[in-house]
Amino acid sequence: MTPVATPDADRTVAQVVAARLRDIPDFPKPGILFKDFTPLLADGPAFARVVQDVAHRHAGQVDVVVGIEARGFILGAAAAYALGLGLVPVRKVGKLPGETLQEEYALEYGTAAIEVRADAFRAGQRVLVLDDVLATGGTAAATCQLVERAGAVVAGVDVLLELASLGGRQRLGRRPVHAILTV
Ligand code: AMP
Repeated sequence: MTPVATPDADRTVAQVVAARLRDIPDFPKPGILFKDFTPLLADGPAFARVVQDVAHRHAGQVDVVVGIEARGFILGAAAAYALGLGLVPVRKVGKLPGETLQEEYALEYGTAAIEVRADAFRAGQRVLVLDDVLATGGTAAATCQLVERAGAVVAGVDVLLELASLGGRQRLGRRPVHAILTV
């Protein structure tokens, strides 16, 4: 018997994401299994479902959204719009004008650094941090450090996908982490 396709309305948001994530082996370098969510972005109802999921969980609980360069900008901007909040970009070094705070973090080989505008937050603002993938957690942890050094509070870290075996959640300590999908 031919299986009947389940309409997305009957699927969990995790199933909606899982059905639209593409595994790209050896990208951007050998040994990396890249999790590509452009098929999700290309599907309007599915993308809207994900953004609504994020917005519903955080409505009234956060004051500003942070998007991590670059794919976090896409989710961050959409979620900020849905929540009626502003967006603060956390960027690779050298992209933001004016005074910034910087945070360095370890990569598999070497280090990377990200920054945020020094005056991006008001004291005590509750911040939702968004990115596509939580892997080792280095990027998200450095982002949280920036938010906290800038005087704000991390109310939540949300990702589409958590690669649980890499231990990113542990690196974020007691900060609330939510992954729509965990593999
Ligand atoms: P990490 O700092 O190790 O948690 O890596 C997270 C950052 O790198 C996120 O901004 C992701 O966009 C990206 N990233 C890490 N691993 C992957 C992967 N397997 N597929 C797609 N993006 C990834």
